[in-house]
Amino acid sequence: MSDFSLALNEDQLQIQKWVHDFAETVVRPAAEEWDEREEFPYPIVEEAAKIGLYSFDFMANALLGDSTGLTLPLTLEELFWGDAGIGLAIFGSGLAAAGISGNGTPEQVVEWVPQCYGSPDKIQIGAFCVSEPDAGSDVSSLRTRAVYDEANDEWVLNGTKAWITNGGIADVHVVVASVEPELKGRGQASFIVPPGTKGLSQGQKYKKLGIRASHTAEVVLDDVRVPGSCLLGGKDKLDEKLAKAREAKLNPGIASGKQPAMATFEATRPSVAAQAIGIARAAYEYSLEYAKERKAFGKPIIQNQAIAFMLADMITEIDAARLLVWRAAWLSRNGKYQNAEGSQSKLKAGRVAVWTTERAIQILGGYGYVREYPVERWHRDSKIYDIFEGTEQIQQLVIARAISGLRIE
Ligand SMILES: Cc1cc2nc3c(=O)[nH]c(=O)nc-3n(C[C@H](O)[C@H](O)[C@H](O)COP(=O)(O)OP(=O)(O)OC[C@H]3O[C@@H](n4cnc5c(N)ncnc54)[C@H](O)[C@@H]3O)c2cc1C
Repeated sequence: MSDFSLALNEDQLQIQKWVHDFAETVVRPAAEEWDEREEFPYPIVEEAAKIGLYSFDFMANALLGDSTGLTLPLTLEELFWGDAGIGLAIFGSGLAAAGISGNGTPEQVVEWVPQCYGSPDKIQIGAFCVSEPDAGSDVSSLRTRAVYDEANDEWVLNGTKAWITNGGIADVHVVVASVEPELKGRGQASFIVPPGTKGLSQGQKYKKLGIRASHTAEVVLDDVRVPGSCLLGGKDKLDEKLAKAREAKLNPGIASGKQPAMATFEATRPSVAAQAIGIARAAYEYSLEYAKERKAFGKPIIQNQAIAFMLADMITEIDAARLLVWRAAWLSRNGKYQNAEGSQSKLKAGRVAVWTTERAIQILGGYGYVREYPVERWHRDSKIYDIFEGTEQIQQLVIARAISGLRIE
């Protein structure tokens, strides 16, 4: 019995090297500038499109052409090792693509996912809009409404979305809205808002602690009308789902289907966790080299156990987190999630990234605290991994419910 293996295959090793080269030569050198500018780094995303990294084909191959599930996480670890803000600018469209793939019909996937990327000559961008000013973790209480105008076969969307990656600058916005508010999360559906649709505008653009090269803004939907064909999954499926949810409301014992946003998050958690590991690894590698070179009291600081043991703990935590990510990615790809392995990987990776980058600042001392060196940026960048795609506490909640089978509040 020697079936179990953590060895990457030839394709994966090649992709890993290819992405690492791009991260090292293009992304990392640009990181400081775009962090300071706090703008979407179009030229870098265009470079990524030119080599095929920012493309529908790459995402489709990384997801569908890989039975292990590991290609996407290892791609993201390398890219985010380069820089998390730029990494998210490159990967952010993937959230919209995942929202479409998770909820759309095959025809909708073929029509809209490529439009989240455009072409190397003219890149396009996608945004996945769920959160609202009063509904982040509590996705079931979204206020954005979608009302069906039967006479015109159109949906009319109204509401405000908060903290949306690529919000307002995207070509394709995927919007999760409430169709039947009394059904809470079970009464929601996802809609495509095509490029140039009237009534969709960008609200405030947020000034952030980290990942500042990634654009984050409010999205305001003011009587946005989209064709009936923009309802992901189609009207029949929605009607069927709503009927089941109404029945389940009357008979609480009956299962009533998943919330669309939740289905997307479940699938994307190991990939988000891998991003955090990329940041942690960057900080670990940098502080290891620094500790070997920096002298205090006449010897390299790494010769003090206090520093060397910190580094030993850092690499151990990073490797442990990566193993959770790879396990979750494999289970997810093979339809074998049993408990909440995706949430476990995200919970651990977020914490490891925050902790490792903080330790890296400690190892660099004063140099760790100033912007001349990258570790303070990595620490600022890392914190988002305890917050988006489900906060630390929400991951704990998902895990606790899965292992207990109880409704933990
Ligand atoms: C940079 C950035 C990019 C983002 N990108 C996107 C995006 O592209 N699309 C999108 O839809 N959203 C996006 N978000 C939103 C993000 O997903 C939410 O901010 C996140 O889900 C948390 O929601 P909240 O901010 O409303 O916090 P809240 O839900 O108000 O939580 C506040 C605190 O209370 C805790 N808490 C809440 N409920 C419970 C509970 N039941 N038990 C225990 N603790 C609880 C939380 O863990 C947290 O510590 C982004 C956010 C940021 C900051």
